[in-house]
Amino acid sequence: MKILSGTALAASFEEELKREAVALTGQGIRPGLAVIQVGEEPATQTYVRSKVKTAERVGMHSVDHKLPATASQAELEALVDRLNRAPHINGVLCQMPLPPHLDGGRITRLIDPLKDVDCFHPYNMGLLALGEPRFLPCTPAGILELLTRYGIAVGGKHTVVLGRSNIVGRPLSILLSQKGWDATVTLCHSRSDGLVELARQADILVAALGQPEFVRAEMVKPGAVVIDVGVNRVADPTAKRGYRLCGDVDFAGVAPKASAITPVPGGVGPMTIAMLLRNTLVGVRLQHGLAEA
Ligand code: NDP
Repeated sequence: MKILSGTALAASFEEELKREAVALTGQGIRPGLAVIQVGEEPATQTYVRSKVKTAERVGMHSVDHKLPATASQAELEALVDRLNRAPHINGVLCQMPLPPHLDGGRITRLIDPLKDVDCFHPYNMGLLALGEPRFLPCTPAGILELLTRYGIAVGGKHTVVLGRSNIVGRPLSILLSQKGWDATVTLCHSRSDGLVELARQADILVAALGQPEFVRAEMVKPGAVVIDVGVNRVADPTAKRGYRLCGDVDFAGVAPKASAITPVPGGVGPMTIAMLLRNTLVGVRLQHGLAEA
């Protein structure tokens, strides 16, 4: 059984990204990423810190815009508008979910599609669905890179994706089913009948449900490749912080049955951040006419 380490792969990606960021900076274009967070949810703060830190490590300029949880829709929209027009910013993202009084859909649509490094804008999602993506959504892209760089063949394989969210399961299922990837894809959700039987048919099983250790050994075909997207905080009084992190897969039970598996943490998560920075470089190329918009 092979451990698919996102930490190791993301580190080698960072070297590639750094080389490109340094070359662009040498041409007078320092790549810039702006991250907006509203409120002080601890998990969000951790994600944002790690995005900003990694961006700086690869030589990008990054700005973390913190708004209070009480910020109004107008304030948030004014900030997005300012960042859309800022020439030194090539990528803009707003950390979701937003507090309930704010309209996340409007923000997603307001971000300049050429700076939409999360690839959430309907225009970019449309291009993705047509097989002509400009940006790739970060988590699905990270999973595709893990599969590719670990030499896991996807063509013709039955891939079962558990979870149909617009940021993970759905775009991943679209990408994997397209020409080039050529997987046979089954997309499951909370209304799927016979989910256990479907999961058991998977050559490649992707768990993106947000349900701690949902995938158990009996749901996995011997020799399957298992990709665990989940990041869950589970109360644990013996842990230093009072909780432990776990995925959507029961790692201890499933790993001995799988041919390859991603750990949590250290699997899909670091790759998601690497892909965000790759998208920031895509943004630079689009905005400076170095790639076709
Ligand atoms: P969402 O909550 O948006 O979507 C969850 C999906 O899982 C939904 O489609 C839901 O079905 C389905 N689902 C939930 N419970 C069940 C169940 N019991 N049986 C079948 N289907 C179920 O989650 P996200 O896609 O945003 O995130 C999923 C997980 O991935 C989370 O743990 C999140 O923290 C993590 N994540 C990790 C990232 C990383 O970089 N590692 C990045 C993004 C997310 P329905 O649509 O019917 O409600």
